[in-house]
Amino acid sequence: MKIAVIGGGPGGYVAAIRCSQYGGEVTLIEESFLGGTCVNVGCIPTKALLKGVEPLAQWSHYGKLGIEGPKPAINIDKLMKHSSRAIQMSRQGIEYLLKKNKIQWIQGRAFEIKDHTVLVQKGDDQINVPFDKIILATGSVSSSIPGIDIDHERIIFSDQALNLSEIPNNMVIIGGGVIGSEMATIYNQLGTKITILEGQSQLLPCEDTDAAHALQKSMHSSGIEIHCNSMVESVIRKEKTVQVTWKHENQTQSIETDTVLMAIGRRPNILPALLDPFGIEYSNKGVLTSPYLETNHPDVYCIGDLNGKWMLAHTASREGMIAAAKIFDKETPPIQYGLQPSVVFTFPELTGVGKRMAEQTYTFPYSANGKARASGIRDGFVKIFLDDHKLVGCTFYGEHASDMISIATMAIQNKLSLSELGFITFPHPTFSEVFSESIELAENLAIHM
Ligand SMILES: Cc1cc2nc3c(=O)[nH]c(=O)nc-3n(C[C@H](O)[C@H](O)[C@H](O)COP(=O)(O)OP(=O)(O)OC[C@H]3O[C@@H](n4cnc5c(N)ncnc54)[C@H](O)[C@@H]3O)c2cc1C
Repeated sequence: MKIAVIGGGPGGYVAAIRCSQYGGEVTLIEESFLGGTCVNVGCIPTKALLKGVEPLAQWSHYGKLGIEGPKPAINIDKLMKHSSRAIQMSRQGIEYLLKKNKIQWIQGRAFEIKDHTVLVQKGDDQINVPFDKIILATGSVSSSIPGIDIDHERIIFSDQALNLSEIPNNMVIIGGGVIGSEMATIYNQLGTKITILEGQSQLLPCEDTDAAHALQKSMHSSGIEIHCNSMVESVIRKEKTVQVTWKHENQTQSIETDTVLMAIGRRPNILPALLDPFGIEYSNKGVLTSPYLETNHPDVYCIGDLNGKWMLAHTASREGMIAAAKIFDKETPPIQYGLQPSVVFTFPELTGVGKRMAEQTYTFPYSANGKARASGIRDGFVKIFLDDHKLVGCTFYGEHASDMISIATMAIQNKLSLSELGFITFPHPTFSEVFSESIELAENLAIHM
């Protein structure tokens, strides 16, 4: 079966590899760099920069461990080189995997679909790619507030923020979601005075309130100014500065800043020329898909940010695998958006899966965990959410949160009961013990609390 995949991000390239593993003859069309937003201007560069600034963020903490001396300085050129290397290696890794799986990669722009053929512009040439089934994975683009011009110089999106050659003295970040919080964490450590303006009542409005408030407090104490319930009204470019005006509880406030980062979210990259020929249903929120990533046309699938359901790389990849399985008639469960973990890579990290509200909640603090004490860490907790005495959600706030959320995801997805979870031995001393202790807490059997 001939498969065309448009978009080489974590949705598209994973779908392409899986289709090839199932025996498909696969062509991947990517107009820019392999890896998409995630590798080139998303997950990988943000985490590379965060890794670079982490020792600076922890410097005051290191004092407790007997590490003394002046706070180290960061060489921004070297940090940027580290980030570029990580991007480059990830791109090369994907290219190698495409070759290994005998996938044809065309570096060109898919601009039209006609009679089961994708028309691709590659330089001056047009290449026609015939297909039996097609997977659309053209991703998303940054959103802005209507009326605010992004000049890509002083008023920027995250793409530019990951490539600034000079560190601004101050920056206003519009939007306190995942991207805004991570960027604030990076630039704050690089010495930029950060002000976050968030329209809703808490930072990370989709996350658990206790965890979001704890992070907000931690970011505030590291010098980041955060204004919630603050709706931006105007962003006006002046000669060397930008004036940002917002409304907070009917009061108009204003600030002058070097740089404005627009981080209010992303919207699906809808390309009507690729959707209309097959009469694919979509709105500005994304392409309409079934839980198996089918569109309303039997030969067209849509995965990743383009369907606007859960804009994260791991979800895009999972959707790619499900679409491939469906195309090749392999057994697969549908995508479960309620069980897609979210992670915010701040200091400390905040992650969640499943419900963030339930009949009962139990919180177990890092301060009662041996590994946390040995590491000199008191800040952090796990909070579990139970309905009818069953685990339905979990949030970690603290060190290693991103690595631990999968334990909860596995438990919820496999519907493990509290007693089944209680019988699992967690290694000591590890941060992960907070999870097993929270389960024991729910059973009224916690040992260390
Ligand atoms: C700053 C930032 C940090 C992020 N951090 C994380 C994180 O830590 N963890 C996480 O899970 N997610 C993170 N994300 C989100 C993640 O990057 C996206 O959810 C993910 O990349 C979506 O994958 P995708 O395959 O759907 O689309 P994309 O990765 O956007 O890939 C789409 C690809 O399609 C190509 N394309 C578009 N149109 C055409 C065309 N007509 N012809 C050919 N090619 C085309 C594009 O060039 C692009 O390469 C982050 C995003 C940003 C912006």
